[in-house]
Amino acid sequence: MNLRKIVILGATGSIGDNTLEVVRGNPERLKVVGIAGKSNYKKLAKIAAEFGVRHVAIYDENAFDEAKASGLFAGAKLYCGPEGLMEISVLPEADTVVAAVVGTQALKPTLAAIEAGKDIALANKELLVMAGKFVMGAAKRKGVKMLPLDSEHNAIFQCLQGECMRDVSKLLITASGGMFREYTLEQMKAIKPEDALKHPNWKMGPKVTIDSSTLANKGLEVIEAKWLFGVTPDQIQVVVQRQSLIHSMVQFSDGSVVAHLSPPSMTFAISHSLLCPERGAPVHEPLDFTKAFAIDFCPPDMEKFPCLKHAFNSLRMGGTASTVFNASNEIAVEEFIAGRLPWLQIPTVVGKTLDAVAVIEPETLDDVLAVDAEARVKAREIANKL
Ligand code: NDP
Ligand code: MG
Repeated sequence: MNLRKIVILGATGSIGDNTLEVVRGNPERLKVVGIAGKSNYKKLAKIAAEFGVRHVAIYDENAFDEAKASGLFAGAKLYCGPEGLMEISVLPEADTVVAAVVGTQALKPTLAAIEAGKDIALANKELLVMAGKFVMGAAKRKGVKMLPLDSEHNAIFQCLQGECMRDVSKLLITASGGMFREYTLEQMKAIKPEDALKHPNWKMGPKVTIDSSTLANKGLEVIEAKWLFGVTPDQIQVVVQRQSLIHSMVQFSDGSVVAHLSPPSMTFAISHSLLCPERGAPVHEPLDFTKAFAIDFCPPDMEKFPCLKHAFNSLRMGGTASTVFNASNEIAVEEFIAGRLPWLQIPTVVGKTLDAVAVIEPETLDDVLAVDAEARVKAREIANKL
């Protein structure tokens, strides 16, 4: 039995909580050696005390100063800011970095971890959407594993075990359909941030919950799937599976479909991602087949939820189009949460920014960062005019 030593970037978030739950259930196989968060240092201190973590990075400088003065981190080394995030990502004692920071702040730390030879358990889908060419390129060059932790990608990863990619006809990515799937246009006009922050099946951080309500999250996952599994846009299809019990499926050339099922808890995907090829101890009640329950499917409505259409379009456009999709969506969500943009206009900002920013084939990471910055400025301008 191997001991995997992990650093968790985003330890105080929803994926962080679920990862720690999996570690609690598998103490002989998983050890947390480093944790990082943005500002919630009190929660970081509790985690450090419970798991005996000696390396703690805090991104926000004020929170770092308060943490240092608090005396809550006896015996631990504290790291500060973007440099601190970089240092903790390359800790010599770690073999795996769990990338679970929301947004794109963890791009450079994740690339640094890859360069240092760490395997990456990837929750942070925005990184591949923004800079998939460079993240996957670095992982291939360094021979490190990209372990899919997002439930859909982990499901596909499990369905592909022992299979040949040339026999894959389609990756069928499931979606709950979001909480507004039955809403009329009139109802959509009245959606408030507090409505969009409640997901019926999953408990997640605010950004991914809003993204689920617009299906932008599914769009990000479509792009993530392209990079993780090397398929074409035409080999990816989204299927609404309302109960969130099937986490994704693979259709093969002979027409057979293999699916992965579990209750809607991220602990299943995290456990597989960190412990494969072995299986971990149970940390959540499994599905109970002694009781009757239903599983149904329907196609997504891309006219009602245009963010998904924009994601497929950006994938077909290639180059930096997905970078623009991600950046404009982040800005639109920020504006919506701040009460400055109606929910219905989130896809409008994404679509208009995709039209406005020129697509290039990036030669370097700096090219990507420049397009990302340009798209953010453009998206903010567009949002402010709506
Ligand atoms: P949360 O909002 O719950 O948590 C975000 C985490 O990132 C927190 O620990 C936060 O710290 C930390 N963070 C934010 N900015 C920085 C920064 N600059 N430096 C260091 N840490 C930072 O998000 P989720 O856990 O829901 O999502 C994390 C990622 O996982 C996202 O990319 C999401 O798309 C992906 N994902 C999430 C799923 C879910 O079920 N939640 C499912 C699949 C993928 P602090 O608490 O101090 O603010
Ligand atoms: Mg997902």
